[in-house]
This record gives sequence, C-alpha cells and structure tokens, in this order.
Amino acid sequence: MKFSRLKLHGFKSFCDETTLVMEPGLTGIVGPNGCGKSNLVEAMRWVMGENSYKAMRASGMDDVIFSGSGNRPGRNSAEVTLVLDNADRTAPAALNTADILEVTRRIEREAGSVYRVNGKEVRARDVQLLFADASTGAHSPAMVRQGQIGELIAAKPTARRALLEEAAGISGLHSRRHEAELR
Ligand code: ATP
Ligand code: MG
Repeated sequence: MKFSRLKLHGFKSFCDETTLVMEPGLTGIVGPNGCGKSNLVEAMRWVMGENSYKAMRASGMDDVIFSGSGNRPGRNSAEVTLVLDNADRTAPAALNTADILEVTRRIEREAGSVYRVNGKEVRARDVQLLFADASTGAHSPAMVRQGQIGELIAAKPTARRALLEEAAGISGLHSRRHEAELR
C-alpha cells in the first residue's frame, strides 16, 4: 500500500478543496510559517483515526473545521480523504477489495466523525486497524512530531515497547486480541 493523494476540504486552514499528490519517492512540503504544513501532516494523522484533539493542537475535535479567516465565514464540516494505491493488495483482508482505496473521514459540527472506505461506511476501528497493520497510522513511528525524539528517550519501557510493536506491525494484532477478550 502506498499513499498517493491527500484531499482536504474544510480541514483547518484548508477551506477550499485542496489535493496533495504524493508521487513515488520523497515528497517535500515547503512554505512560510503558518501556511499550513503542519496542518497537512495533522490531516493525515486525523484521517487515519486520531482520536485525540490535543494531537491536532485543538481544544475540541470540532476545532479541526475551518473556522473562518478574513472575510471568509467558517464551515460546518471538514473532510479529509487519503487515497491509497493498493495494487500490491497488501491491505488487511476485510478492506482488500480494490486496487485503489479511498479512506475518508468527515466531521460535522457537534455531530462527530464518520469514516468511509470507497464510499462505504466503516467503523473508526476498521480504519485504525487498516493503518496499524500497514505499520503506519496516527500513532506510528512513521509520523514524527516535533519534540517526539526527546519524549522517546525519556519514555518508560512499556511506552517504548508499544512503539517497537507498531514498527513491527503487530500492534493491530494486539488490539484485535483485546477486542476478542472483551467479547
Ligand atoms: P510553521 O512553519 O510555523 O510550523 P506551518 O506551515 O506548519 O507553520 P500550520 O501550523 O500548519 O503552519 O498552520 C497554522 C495556521 O492554520 C494558522 O494560521 C492557523 O490560524 C490556521 N488554522 C488552524 N486551525 C484552523 C481552523 N480551524 N480554521 C482556520 N484556520 C486554522
Ligand atoms: Mg509547522
């Protein structure tokens, strides 16, 4: 699975629909302070199932919705779509249904989030597992926040183990076991 496009509409500073194309190789994002570089990375984390609004530098999840600027009014919803190239068919079985997977998360003010994969509504859990199995995802070591290296050095062994498990691609198995034990 590879990321191929990120589409934003109404997410943070991206009021109008914006598409970031990720060609094979390295993608760099450059721009002046406050232009939205970190917002783009947060959009990726968000669509992969991030539940913590603090990780979005927000004081509530509705804060990810464009709140207006200058003469532009705020919006009532935000939507982010991550397009995955699944031509190698490495997506987890339940979602391994097509060569291209469009994972969408949409939030409406005061109504919470809805997730869809290729238009079909799925649980947040399904999306989180999809990315956990692919060794990526909102909490994976593939996403390095500012200050995170320092935190890792100071982390307790259990926290460090969780990171190694995510890197090894087995954290999805752990959360499935946890789900099974609850049943
Ligand atoms: P730096 O180079 O300083 O790290 P950056 O390019 O990473 O900057 P971001 O932090 O991504 O910039 O973007 C910050 C901008 O996003 C601010 O101008 C802020 O007002 C705007 N912003 C954040 N949330 C919203 C929102 N909900 N609605 C509108 N604008 C928002
Ligand atoms: Mg930034």
